[in-house]
Order: sequence, then C-alpha cells, then structure tokens
Amino acid sequence: MSIFPEHFSFLDGRDFERRPQQETMASKVYYALSEGLNLCVEAPTGVGKSIAYLLPAVKWHRNTEQTKPIIITTHTKHLQEQLLKKDVPAVQLMLGEDFNAVIGMGRGNYICMRRMNAAAAGSPDFLPDESMIPEVFRIKSWSATSENGCKTELPFAVDNGAWGTVNAEEGNCLNQRCPHFKPCFFQKSRRSLYGADVIIVNHALFFADLAIKAETGDEQAGILPSASAIIVDECHTVEDVAAVHLGIRLSAGTFLYQLRRIYNKRSKRGAISTVSDNRGRHLAAKMHDEVRDFFQSLHAWLPDENKTHRIHEPVVPENPLAEGLTQLCGLLELYADEEEGNPEKETEYRSLSRRLLKLTDSLSFFLRASSEEHVFWFEKSTKHLSMHAAAIDVAPILNDLLFRSKTPVVTTSATLAVSEKLSYYRSRVGMSESLDMILDSPFDFKNQMKVFAAQTLPSPKENDYEKEALTWLRYFIHMSTGGAFVLFTSFSQMKRIADAVRPFMNEMGLKLLVQGEAASSALLLQAFKEDNNSVLFGTDTFWTGVDVPGESLRNVIIMRIPFAVPDHPLIAARCEHLEKTGGRAFFDFSVPEAQLKLRQGIGRLIRSAKDRGIVVLMDSRVSNTNYGAKFLRAMPEGCEIEHF
Ligand code: SF4
Repeated sequence: MSIFPEHFSFLDGRDFERRPQQETMASKVYYALSEGLNLCVEAPTGVGKSIAYLLPAVKWHRNTEQTKPIIITTHTKHLQEQLLKKDVPAVQLMLGEDFNAVIGMGRGNYICMRRMNAAAAGSPDFLPDESMIPEVFRIKSWSATSENGCKTELPFAVDNGAWGTVNAEEGNCLNQRCPHFKPCFFQKSRRSLYGADVIIVNHALFFADLAIKAETGDEQAGILPSASAIIVDECHTVEDVAAVHLGIRLSAGTFLYQLRRIYNKRSKRGAISTVSDNRGRHLAAKMHDEVRDFFQSLHAWLPDENKTHRIHEPVVPENPLAEGLTQLCGLLELYADEEEGNPEKETEYRSLSRRLLKLTDSLSFFLRASSEEHVFWFEKSTKHLSMHAAAIDVAPILNDLLFRSKTPVVTTSATLAVSEKLSYYRSRVGMSESLDMILDSPFDFKNQMKVFAAQTLPSPKENDYEKEALTWLRYFIHMSTGGAFVLFTSFSQMKRIADAVRPFMNEMGLKLLVQGEAASSALLLQAFKEDNNSVLFGTDTFWTGVDVPGESLRNVIIMRIPFAVPDHPLIAARCEHLEKTGGRAFFDFSVPEAQLKLRQGIGRLIRSAKDRGIVVLMDSRVSNTNYGAKFLRAMPEGCEIEHF
C-alpha cells in the first residue's frame, strides 16, 4: 500500500504529482524504521527526497507511538527552512493532522537574560570592556520585543565579543535557580525540543552534540534529546563535518578573549575584577601576555604565509603555558568555592575555569601532536595563526556513536554512489550495516543533456594545456551563447583563465562573473541568475549546493577532474592512512572522491524536467587514461557523449 494519499492538493491548489522514485523511497524509509534498520539512499535531484523521508517517518512515529522525537540533520540552512516552511506543512496536509516540528539551534545563539542584564548594568565583573556597553544596550532593547531571542534574527550586525557577554553559553547557566528560568529564550527553546515530534538541526550542531554525549557518556548531555530515528540529509558532507567536530581549532584570539573575560588589565574589568585576592588578576594579566607572545613567536617561526603547515612531531617538549593556565583555573575554582551562596558568581567562575582548562588541554594535545588518530596542522595568514587537529578516520568513531546505536539512521543525498554502489560512501563514514537504495533520476538525460569530453587536448598537467583549453573554452561559451558555469579546482588557474578570456567575453557582449570579484558568492550567483547570458567562473562553493533551474544555466564546463588538493594535511593524512591499512590512496580515495565531486558539479545543470544543456569536460584524462573511464561512466544514464 502506498505511503502517499490517493489524491492530494497543496494549499495553493496545485495537485500533488506522484513520482515513482519518491514512492519507492518512502516505502523503504517506512520499512527501515519499522525494522529498526539503517538505510542509505541516493535520491537524485527531482525525486523529492525530503517528503519521501518526512512523510513515512512521521507516519511511523505516529503508528508506533514513539515518545522520542525524530531528528533530521542537514548541512545547509536553506534545506532546514525548506523543511520547516514547505515540507512540514505539506506532510501535515497529507496526513490530515498536525505534528510538532521545530528547528534546534546551539545554545550560544540565544540571549541569556541573566548575563545580559548584568552586562547592561555595566557591572565590571560581567563586562570585560566598557566599549561594549552601547552594543549590549542595543541587544537588550531588541530582546524586549524579540520572540525567541535568537542571534539569527538580530536586525543588525553584532560584534562576537559583545555577543559573548550576553549569550547563553555552555556551562554558565543557573537552570532552575535562575530567576529568568521560565521566560528564558534558551530554556523555552529547549523545552520545545523536548516536546517536539520532529527536530531539524544542522550537521554542526548534531555532531557537536554527539561529541558532548560521547565525551560525558550521558545521553541527556548536550542540547538534543535522544531520538527515535535520525535522518541525515545532505549526508555527503558528514565525513568532513564530523572530522572537524571531533577535532580542535585554537587561536590566540580564543585564549585572549577568555583571559580578558577573567580579567582585563587595560580596562580593569572582568569576572574577578572585584575579588579581594590579587593573585588571580596578576596571573590572568601575566598569562594574557604569555599567550600572546607564544602565538607571536610561533607565527614568526613558521616559514610561509597563507599556508598550512602540517606537524608530525611535538612542537615544543611540553606546553609552556600549561602550568600558569592550570594555576589560574585553580584560583577560579577557589573563588567559586568562596561564592557558594552566590550562584551567579559561582557559576561564572566555574564556567570560566572549565573553559580555560579545556583550552589548555587542547593546546597540550596539539603541541604534543602524538595522537595517531589525528592529523595536526597550523594555518598561517599575514597576521593570524591557528592550530588544527582533525580525526583522520571518522568511520570507527561514527560507527560506534551513530550507526551501531539502537536508533535507526537514514542517510540520504543527491549524489552518493561511486561506480553505482554506496559501499564507498558507507565505508568513509562507518555505516557498516545498512539497506542500500539508489534511485533513478526522474529526468530524461537522453534528451536533456549532452556531454562533450576532451580527447585531443593536452593533459592539464602539461604546459600548453591552458593555451589550448582557452580556444575550446571560447568555442563552448560561444556554442551556448553564455549561460555557463565554468568550474575550477584552483583559484590561481581560474584567475589566469578569466583574464585571458575577458576580451572575448567583451567582444561577445557577455557578462563575466568571477568568484572573488563580487562582495559574496551569493551576490555573484544572484547576478548570474538575473542575466540569461552571463558566464560564471567559480571554484569549490559552486560545485555543490547551487541551484539554478531554468534557462540561465545551460552549459557546465569542468576544467579539470576535481581531485582533492593532496597537500592539504587532512587529505594527505587520509591517503597515508589508506596506504598503511593496505589500500591504494589514488584508486581507493582520490578517484572515488573526484567521481563524487564531478557528479555533483555536473548535477548543477539539470534541475527540472524542463532544463536542457551541455556538459563539457576539459580534462582529456577522462578519455585517455584507464581510470578516466570511471568518470565517463559516472555521467547520467542515457546522455550522449561526444569526444573533441
Ligand atoms: S536559565 Fe540559564 S540561560 Fe536562561 S537566563 Fe537563566 S542563566 Fe541564562
């Protein structure tokens, strides 16, 4: 029996169009949840995958009287909004009954009334810098009329430092002891999560929450309640998001901000500015200068700017800041003990102490660089230096924390399959046991899309590639009279080719839009959509998640096979890990990753049944190498391929 109602019209009168792929997916989702199984689905553009999981999931939730919510996690805000504003109301209409769906956000996004009032009162203990007062007042007056006290709804830009003094930060909440507990924006949002049938979050919050639950061993820790089912949409980004959230990122700014909150020697403000004991203030001021000097000396020691520097060995024998920072944490705990009758101050001191201790431990972990499961690197720009550690292989961690738990997990995305199988994707994220499903595209690629694949062009590794590629680039832009995305893997190559092609574009009267030449990628995309014949040159951001249905985009030109940059420390470490465990980095990682990315890139072209266009592969390795055949086989079924 179909999951979908026999006849259904949306509120605006449109009839619901039944799609076989959507029905197949919906039935499978219902089956997997009923059996408590994991399910991995490639659901190409046009299938309508969000309704294909939402409807059966809510039906299952109702039919089996689940008490815990369904959690849906997505990569983009755009999809969260689409789910809440379009898909949830549609599914409610289909079911003929309401259910409660909410968007979950991290606590740092909400105002803490207690901290805001203390900061607005100008108290030196709660406001490390007087210059923040006007901004704090602005936030306070906005919060009086705000419905949910959430940063994303602020009608003006706010400095992170000022926001950090008024937000509901982790570990600094009085909970039921707080006089604002009932009207508190964050607590209201938390209560709504616990009362919801469906919670929609982003991957960053979901994986941060998962990490907190894993660290504490407590299912109730973090923000999100435990779930009856988890649906991971846009799941192709999970490996990278999880690697970041299961790792660390540190900068001088992170430390100095916390130290100034404890005591700011310039303004003589900060949490312990009125404590009678002088030791804490002296130590905070001393550590502030030592941290600053330490980061500056590392910045000077590292060779090039605008580069990543991987480290394989300890940077220094031991963390030179650990002793002083740990002592300061000890003093904060002491001051907290002395304030036992004053929950506001006690919580503030303990929260600052825990934060600083965590930063100190992370710094020691980074400087030791000894964990074999992590890769460590510096990122250096002209003025700044940051330290990074990321989990090299997230598969065993996610297998343990997510995919082997009792909660069924559905992962889905438009592009997941490599060589028509989902096993590569599942192996990368540790989804060891799962039902697999690859749905057909609802589009007619035979009639909607044609591929031109380079054969006579020199390989992109050869010197004369750019010169020859330019001739063909002009030819194909001319063929479609613009309306083209030209996708690059290197910013510098994009700029060189943009400069070289500009006179031709002027001659043709076509607008050239180049990433980095507009205020933002969003504005660039908007300009592209508004001009039917423009040509957009872009790198990473334009390969995925960009939607231009209709006439404006009728030509997607891929300049090179999108192999991941092998000198990025995380990519290099993943390749080494594969080699060490008996794999072949190029064939078992670089090629499948590039296949996925290529499929995502060409997926920009056909977004609806009415779209028509061409794809041009400017990299002759697709025609002239053994592995190249895999890329041509990754083209949508039925579309014609012509070599040039
Ligand atoms: S309940 Fe917690 S987050 Fe809310 S106002 Fe009180 S201290 Fe702040």
